Amino acid sequence: MEQILELKDLKVQFPINIGTVRAIDGVSLKLEQGEVMGLVGESGCGKSTLGFSILRLLRPPGRIVSGEILYHGQDIVQMSEKEILSLRGNKIAMIFQDPLTSLNPLFRIDQQFIETLLTHEKGLEKKSAFTRAEKILESLGISPERLLEYPHQMSGGMRQRIMIGMGLILNPDLLIADEPTTSLDVIVEAQFLDLLNDLRRQYNLTIILITHNLGNVAQLADRITVMYGGTIAETGPAGAIFEDPLHPYSQGLLASIPNIKLDQPKLMTMPGSPPDLVNPPAGCVFHPRCPRAIDICKVERPGVIKQDGRLVSCWLYR
Ligand code: SF4
Repeated sequence: MEQILELKDLKVQFPINIGTVRAIDGVSLKLEQGEVMGLVGESGCGKSTLGFSILRLLRPPGRIVSGEILYHGQDIVQMSEKEILSLRGNKIAMIFQDPLTSLNPLFRIDQQFIETLLTHEKGLEKKSAFTRAEKILESLGISPERLLEYPHQMSGGMRQRIMIGMGLILNPDLLIADEPTTSLDVIVEAQFLDLLNDLRRQYNLTIILITHNLGNVAQLADRITVMYGGTIAETGPAGAIFEDPLHPYSQGLLASIPNIKLDQPKLMTMPGSPPDLVNPPAGCVFHPRCPRAIDICKVERPGVIKQDGRLVSCWLYR
């Protein structure tokens, strides 16, 4: 399969008055065309920052301080503003948990689709843009007549679908979905994930699904990347990680989620709290909470180790 995205030793920092937040601290990963990667971890682990970094949408004072983000081999970090503008939407789209942040309440849905299309595709006629919008709505299972409605006339689930449509209208090949189901109830959430799965096949989409919800990941992802404290703890095939997580943090995360492993004897909670990213712990960033830490964990950061077809960052596998 063709590689669509590769991050190489990416570092993102936020200088603040008490120091520098090392939000992403040396992340490397690869993504192949057509796969769905679930990016999971606790709040503040850096997963959303990673999504925003790929599109160079970091809010100040956040900045990429080093590393590469290769999209089809081209480094996004080095792109000019003009190049990055043409990439956003056209090639890489991002959807968020609250559709109302992406949809303008003052305009009808058709007007918003048409404006997006006309901005990115010079010379396109309004009528053709409207037809494209009708088609995308049909593929989302929404009657095209609803194009004439305003966002407030729709339910939360319907708005979420419309937002995906806005993301897909320019035929991107990479979709970054940041906690897309957080505002949905359980039934609408399941329908939404089914839809995402259908669209992925229909459009050969590559998806980065950023979520704290491991149930979503289990339903959709081919591969999982577990993040902790701005670093990658473990990455590998979803089935293997659910079946037998290697990193102690992945083990704790899975054990703390109900209904993922039906044979789990009891629900666990992970002791301690996420690390201070201004003054991260020396050695392995997880060592203050790790039940399996050994001496070296407190002084030296573990490198990435290949183990059972996965990459894991832990001294236990050296
Ligand atoms: Fe735990 Fe050490 Fe592995 Fe870190 S490197 S996860 S502290 S065992």
